[in-house]
Amino acid sequence: MQEYPLGPKPVLLRAPVILPMVSPPLIDGAVVVSGGRVRELGSFRHLRRTFRGKILDLGEVALLPALVNAHTHLELSVFRFRLTPSGSFVSWVRSLLRKRTEVALSEARRAVKEALQELWQEGVGLIADIGNTGLSLGLLREAPFYSVYFREIIDFKGDSRIQEFVRGPEGGRITYSLSPHAPYTVSPVLIQALKSWTRRAKLPLSIHVAESPEECAFLERGQGPLRTLLEERGQLPSGFEAPGLSPVAYLQRLGVLDERTICVHLVQVSRRDLEILARHQARPCLCPRSNIFLGVGLAPLPQMLSSGLKPCLGTDSLASNDRLSVLAEVEALYAAYPEVPPEKFFLMATLWGAEALGRRDLGFIGPGARAELIGLGLPPGRSSPWERLLEGPKKVEVRLYATV
Ligand SMILES: [Zn+2]
Repeated sequence: MQEYPLGPKPVLLRAPVILPMVSPPLIDGAVVVSGGRVRELGSFRHLRRTFRGKILDLGEVALLPALVNAHTHLELSVFRFRLTPSGSFVSWVRSLLRKRTEVALSEARRAVKEALQELWQEGVGLIADIGNTGLSLGLLREAPFYSVYFREIIDFKGDSRIQEFVRGPEGGRITYSLSPHAPYTVSPVLIQALKSWTRRAKLPLSIHVAESPEECAFLERGQGPLRTLLEERGQLPSGFEAPGLSPVAYLQRLGVLDERTICVHLVQVSRRDLEILARHQARPCLCPRSNIFLGVGLAPLPQMLSSGLKPCLGTDSLASNDRLSVLAEVEALYAAYPEVPPEKFFLMATLWGAEALGRRDLGFIGPGARAELIGLGLPPGRSSPWERLLEGPKKVEVRLYATV
């Protein structure tokens, strides 16, 4: 992969195809960047006439905004290839809980560093990282990414001291927010309190929702292996009564669904659930390769799109995936749903992820956008650039990043 740092001076980038994500593909296009931002976008022939500065021809690539990994847990990177795909969600949770106690801090830290290098090679520019130890935070601060760090809360009894959830330092490349882990591991009042806090701060809130059939069995009927697990861990309140609703309908009843709620997974959803999500403009985040690893199924992407939802993509952690590649997630979804219009996969991998994470300066190429760009190898052919990219090897050939 070729890397080009972009400094304060104007540079004109030329590529045979530019995919701005907010407007149609540009053939033989050019982008002018300076001071870390995109200034102009247009045809190469037109922009070169008035441009005075360095011209960089990127070769046979499609130029896109850097990708968005809208859901991962960097602190779990040490578990790559250490957990067995058992086909049972709860068995996987149990082995993760057990293995977490066996890992040395230095080893876990080294794995986060390697994970960040991998994300860079894979063309990711914006990361949503979920953590409950703070292990990845220092490394994220030093890394050249934009990120949202979600502090994860797990507390089904709900006796956490809510006032402790204070906002992190302002500014820079990291946004700090909160993430109730899931409807079956955080008490209803605590989910509401966390949403109230993020709503007031105009921050995204991320929550795992409708991932496994076991989650539905627990919320709908109060039964199944998740109930047993909560009992064993002393986390089931006495006199607990199941809400008797699907995970999505339950979150609606709690009043926590809106355009700043990122619902991660949404594999176990009905048509009615999709209507609820669309009505509240909630943001689905799909992690297909993790879902395949855990054997829970796949989110119904075509139905989501026809409901008007704008899903984004995440890899989830290396405890349930072997890669942190957003392009590999695109490949998995395309293989399952070849009928989906090709450009939607790239919107999911860029613009819709940035929007869900509240970053209006990333995920597209246009005046004002951050100069965080990638060039994907563009196979020759007569079909649309979207189709050529989807069918090609999806390799990041060029990475351009702002140094100012
Ligand atoms: Zn997750």
